[in-house]
Amino acid sequence: MPGTSQSLLVSKPLPAWFDTPMREVNAAIAADRLAHGILIHEDPGAGGLELARWIAQRVNCREPSRAPCGECQDCRWIAANQHPDMTLLTREEDSQYIKIEPVRELISDLTLTAHGRGYKVAIFWPADALYPNAAQSLLKTLEEPSKRTLLLLVTSQPSRLLPTVRSRCSRLRLVGPTRKAAADYLEAARGAGPWSEALAATGAGPFALVDSDPAALAQLRSDTISTLQDIGSGNLQPPGVAERWAKDELSIRLSCLESWVTDRILETTSIRDVTHLSGAALPPKICHLFEFSDAIRDMRKLAHTPVNKTMAVEALLWRWARQ
Ligand SMILES: [Zn+2]
Repeated sequence: MPGTSQSLLVSKPLPAWFDTPMREVNAAIAADRLAHGILIHEDPGAGGLELARWIAQRVNCREPSRAPCGECQDCRWIAANQHPDMTLLTREEDSQYIKIEPVRELISDLTLTAHGRGYKVAIFWPADALYPNAAQSLLKTLEEPSKRTLLLLVTSQPSRLLPTVRSRCSRLRLVGPTRKAAADYLEAARGAGPWSEALAATGAGPFALVDSDPAALAQLRSDTISTLQDIGSGNLQPPGVAERWAKDELSIRLSCLESWVTDRILETTSIRDVTHLSGAALPPKICHLFEFSDAIRDMRKLAHTPVNKTMAVEALLWRWARQ
């Protein structure tokens, strides 16, 4: 199950960047105004699923004075995805969607009383993978929830949810950590490694790297950037490189390029200096970096379509070669 390995990363203390949303949840519980539907808007890889599990523990822990204790049977079952009152709905391996059948089953299950004394909790991860008619079928549950039920919808792209679903949930924002804080967290959880380079390779937060080999990612990043520099200086030609990249980790290579170009833009000038300038007034080098960054982003969207990847990558690399 995709969520299982992530739960292994949950360690005390919890990530510092969980503090604000955890405080909001505690305040809502103290005021007895916890919403029945909560949309957790996370930055990619910030740990929205873990925050959802924390909330499930918070409302089901047997030690109310120090909930979630992390040690009682309810807390441990939730951490292991084995709690009878918690359901985690995620994509099946062969699909990009959360399908309707398990959602229907869940809805009928939510009308039953919880096994324990706490809440019945359903986590949708990622909620933007809900098939539209599955999301539609959730509306009634969100409007007229049974007592002590909690729906947690985790997504980094809330705009991809149905507006009717969005408007029925309260929002909880989970802002991701700085790269340094993310690298420190991974080092504490997984041991030493080139985490900073690995994070720069994917451009995502630490929870996206839980199952990754940081050395392999750092190596891929270094190879990608030095290849791009060789193309820029005319030592390498785009066609051969495009053929190799199209077959080998293209999406991570595109992430590497995007985060590298973003870092160069930030290095060259602060964003504040640039935003008040019109396109025509931008210095040529910055213009080129922005254009290349847009082209990479377009290419990343195409990477999931049946487009001829070798040709598309070659066109992208020629842009860099002709800078
Ligand atoms: Zn507990």
